[in-house]
Amino acid sequence: MILILSPNIDPESPSYQNLLSHLSRLHDIRFRIHLEQGAEQTLTEIYLIGNTSAISVEDMKALPGVERVVRISEEYRVLGRHHDDGRSAHFDYQGLRFGQDTLHVFAGLCAVDTPDNVEKMMRALRDNGQVCTRMGAYKPRTSPYSFQGHGKQCLPYVFELAGKCGIKVIAMEITHESHIDEINEALHSTGNPTGVMLQIGTRNTQNFELLKFVGRQKEFPVLLKRGFGITLSESLHAAEYLASEGNHKVIFGLRGVKTNMGDPHRNFLDFAHVPVVKRLTRMPVCIDPSHAVGSRTIGPEGILDLMHATAQGIISGANMVLVDFHPVPDRALVDGPQALLLDELPRFLEDVQIAREAYEKRLALAQRHFQ
Ligand code: PEP
Ligand code: MN
Repeated sequence: MILILSPNIDPESPSYQNLLSHLSRLHDIRFRIHLEQGAEQTLTEIYLIGNTSAISVEDMKALPGVERVVRISEEYRVLGRHHDDGRSAHFDYQGLRFGQDTLHVFAGLCAVDTPDNVEKMMRALRDNGQVCTRMGAYKPRTSPYSFQGHGKQCLPYVFELAGKCGIKVIAMEITHESHIDEINEALHSTGNPTGVMLQIGTRNTQNFELLKFVGRQKEFPVLLKRGFGITLSESLHAAEYLASEGNHKVIFGLRGVKTNMGDPHRNFLDFAHVPVVKRLTRMPVCIDPSHAVGSRTIGPEGILDLMHATAQGIISGANMVLVDFHPVPDRALVDGPQALLLDELPRFLEDVQIAREAYEKRLALAQRHFQ
């Protein structure tokens, strides 16, 4: 059960103190307080843990300072949607809103290679009005002999160039908890020119100790990719690991699943799950068409499979697109074959816009029917 308190409630106020003393007298019930810092207000949520079935929603609603009460089901307790759940489905970071109703494109390098390529990428983004990107510094590779990413050494120039080009958020995969300190240090030493969204890759979806660690920090939002060989429900539970530790700023990423049934694509496209994740949880949903399709194959009508996949996700309501670009894909150290070219960026963004408008029209049609 979750008690949602009046916005901006003062923890020193008598009503808050009375509420806590009442809760501490409940038999066999523990509670955890979570502060949700929004752009305009701070929301206090109190999670009651234990056998709450005997507690009445009405009794809880009558307590001082309590505005709403949500009785939650077992599944996805924090991030899930529950009966009468009025909790928000968005969060703010770096002045941007990430929600189930917004859309952001994170085009960028799969792996940082040279400062020159980072600069070319960032400039192309700026020239096309983009404020988000993806940049891989820590790369989980199948072979230990493959390029593993430049790691912390590249972070200062990546962050500085991002700041110069007005990039507000960089999605960056981490594979170890120590990478958070390295990112923090580099942001600090460069004067915080940009923000970072920590990415947990598909190989680490069930690395529970890493999830717990990342969930304990509330500074950076997290993009969690679904596991490539586990069920959707298992991946959603993995997201819940982050939230149960305190970080509710979680975006769920679809990137295809591994099966030969998806051939000739690198993974089997799972973007039909966009509305499923939005129905089951309050997380914004990201699609990664690059790692799903895995190549620049092109249809007879002249549209890249990768752009078809992107449009399919967006027309179903996706909220974020993570997509690989590279100034010279032939020389990319990771995933060159799936990278789009910088001069394809305007066309890609226009295609995204077309699909988004189609989604918005579909939404309006559905809402007309609903009334
Ligand atoms: C990536 O985004 O660079 C990546 C490695 O993706 P995934 O974890 O989905 O394979
Ligand atoms: Mn990649």
